[in-house]
Amino acid sequence: PNTRLAGQTCIVTGGSSGIGAAVAMAIGQEGANVVVNYHSDAESAEQIAHEISKHNLCGDAIPFKCDVSKEDQVVDMFQKAINHFGTVDICIPNAGIQRDFPLHEMPLKEWQFVIDVNLTGQFLCAREAIREFLRRGPRPDVSASLGKIIHMSSVHEVIPWAGHANYAASKGGLVMLMQSICQQYAPQKVRCNSIAPGAIKTPINQEVWSDPESLEKLYDLIPYKRIGIPDDIGSVAAWLASDESEYINGTTIFVDGGMTCYPGFTENG
Ligand code: NAD
Repeated sequence: PNTRLAGQTCIVTGGSSGIGAAVAMAIGQEGANVVVNYHSDAESAEQIAHEISKHNLCGDAIPFKCDVSKEDQVVDMFQKAINHFGTVDICIPNAGIQRDFPLHEMPLKEWQFVIDVNLTGQFLCAREAIREFLRRGPRPDVSASLGKIIHMSSVHEVIPWAGHANYAASKGGLVMLMQSICQQYAPQKVRCNSIAPGAIKTPINQEVWSDPESLEKLYDLIPYKRIGIPDDIGSVAAWLASDESEYINGTTIFVDGGMTCYPGFTENG
């Protein structure tokens, strides 16, 4: 087995479904310990943690309930992870939600809800991760970096999205959060990057891919003409967490089948 992350510990938020579950599995398959964070679906988080532990020759996995938008809960999650596994080497803030409204009809609380989970939640996780990286210091035997943060962004960090301004603003905000972290902590050998998925088949966009007509329309936006699957993101996350990508810092890796090449501008042929 490939164990590029043996001896390391990773927290994945929103790990009980979709992209987070695939990322947790992929990281676990590389030999890391994994904290599978969940918000409400304990059963699924337990099952994923069990699956990881069963196949992981080097590491272990535990489910952990926490609302990433709540400071005390995020602080507690990191403390429990550190108590259990010794430290945290990789942080993948992935939890995210959509609450869709035309802007003129968007209630403040729905704007705030999305910002709280998608942006503030990622800030809180990144802050706790960096505190732990700095406290713990280098471990050159397990990783060339002091620690790694991989924000789960979206193509909507660059593609505007009418009817989803709260979501697009949260993902746009992640660019500057991620790059400011890189600028500040790269000298201490922290790596901070984002993954920007295109359309990936998960519960968040079920109404798009479960209807054949809207799935067909979706392909107009994807030059590669297939919808992504969670494992497309899992494999990139595992590589981005490993020393194979050591010199990548402060950037977004788009995993979108070409969506950000704006196929709507294609001329005939
Ligand atoms: P998903 O709905 O399966 O996953 C989101 C997860 O976040 C769920 O497990 C949910 O329980 C969790 N969550 C929600 N609020 C939370 C909170 N307050 N605290 C902790 N966890 C919470 O959908 P997904 O597609 O797997 O989404 C994962 C990430 O990928 C999100 O950040 C999303 O914006 C991003 N993304 C998804 C797509 C896509 O096409 N599926 C595209 C681009 C970006």
